[in-house]
Amino acid sequence: MTELTKILLDETEMPTQWYNIVADLPEPPPPPLHPGTHEPATGADFSAIFPEALIAQEMSQERYIDIPGEVLDVYRLWRPSPLFRAHRLEKLLDTPAKIYYKYEGVSPAGSHKPNTAVPQVWYNAQEGITKLTTETGAGQWGSSLAFACAQFGLESEIWQVAASYRAKPHRRTMMEIWGGKVHPSPSEVTEFGRSLLAQDPDHPGSLGIAISEAVSEAIEDPKTRYALGSVLNHVLLHQTIIGEEALLQLAKVGDVPDVLVGCTGGGSNFGGLAFPFLREKLKGNMNPVIRCVEPTACPTLTKGQYRYDFGDTAGLTPLMKMHTLGASFIPEPIHAGGLRYHGMAPLVSHVYNLGLVEAIAIPQTECFAGALQFARSEGIVPAPEPTHAIAAAIREALLCKETGEEKTILTALCGHGHLDLASYDKYMSGEMVDLDLSDDVIAAAMKGVPVIG
Ligand SMILES: *Cc1c(COP(=O)(O)O)cnc(C)c1O
Repeated sequence: MTELTKILLDETEMPTQWYNIVADLPEPPPPPLHPGTHEPATGADFSAIFPEALIAQEMSQERYIDIPGEVLDVYRLWRPSPLFRAHRLEKLLDTPAKIYYKYEGVSPAGSHKPNTAVPQVWYNAQEGITKLTTETGAGQWGSSLAFACAQFGLESEIWQVAASYRAKPHRRTMMEIWGGKVHPSPSEVTEFGRSLLAQDPDHPGSLGIAISEAVSEAIEDPKTRYALGSVLNHVLLHQTIIGEEALLQLAKVGDVPDVLVGCTGGGSNFGGLAFPFLREKLKGNMNPVIRCVEPTACPTLTKGQYRYDFGDTAGLTPLMKMHTLGASFIPEPIHAGGLRYHGMAPLVSHVYNLGLVEAIAIPQTECFAGALQFARSEGIVPAPEPTHAIAAAIREALLCKETGEEKTILTALCGHGHLDLASYDKYMSGEMVDLDLSDDVIAAAMKGVPVIG
């Protein structure tokens, strides 16, 4: 067996299809519902927001969907991405476990998000759309969409959560470099934004509010559509290129995972890595434990309820059955901005509910402690979000040290942290604290969740 450190595929080995887990699940996922009638939503309910091709993917039962040639051409700027064997971290931990990480920080935006931004923009362009709107928290998704719009000559207009807009000016600069027009949210541009600013001129904003603003702008103009960076079925579909590549890469070294861990904000990098492995598990080809890792400050799977809820704060989106903390929930400003969403992808929620995957929550100081061990051994500075995946991989590797088991652990390092160094400063200066979320706060936000049926 080869002891490679960096397991590469060449461009000709890159997968040319995305994988749709819906085709292989023992039960179909519950459908989205129309927000007014509570009847199953139809394609038409989405058509003011999304292009037809993406609505079709959202509802598709097809097992494999071809990746368009022009999308593959852009993917080749950074794909196939490397799979690393973490020899140096293993040595530091003195573990008999093997740790592999699929590194998505090699994309232009520095995360996995361009994997879906590029096809989303391409499908919109095919239908004559000239502008896309979106929201962004820490700026990862906004910058990915702005990059993809630049590739295909579309305009992008982005509502960035006000607290991040003020705290993370460099992400805004990236969006503007790629031609994006950026507003702090809540903004003066939309009626909803103006109403919130009237109550509080220093409103910190939230992802749910920013989604409401971006959606309301898209609805008003027939040449504009909205793009979402996580949560939806078509987004997870596009991210499966991560897991399809990782399967081929592990096959090159003759390994299969015993444990797969991934961080979950909206669920897209997790689903992207895990679903191709879940397919193999359902087929009986391997039997990995598959585990979601979330922050204790936003414990959507471990403390939320599995219910129909809105994706946004104003209630403009269809209702989705998902694990939720309530659409009005505003999480504490933890450093992993990308994990601060009240809901979880309906597909991840569904497989969790079916018992096909597990979930744990980890506090942020443990995550940053793990990230320093990782950076000092493997070299790469992780984004705050995948520090959760790294901390979970370290927990598992240390367990193997106790039991002597030589497990193979796989995770996704879904982004680098070069624009999140302030978070590392907070941790290293001892100022970072773990925020405990009280059950009362969750109960209050859950009161606003609609009662269906
Ligand atoms: C956005 C983001 C996340 C969270 O989104 P998922 O859909 O859960 O993947 C995690 N990591 C990074 C680096 C991100 O940019």
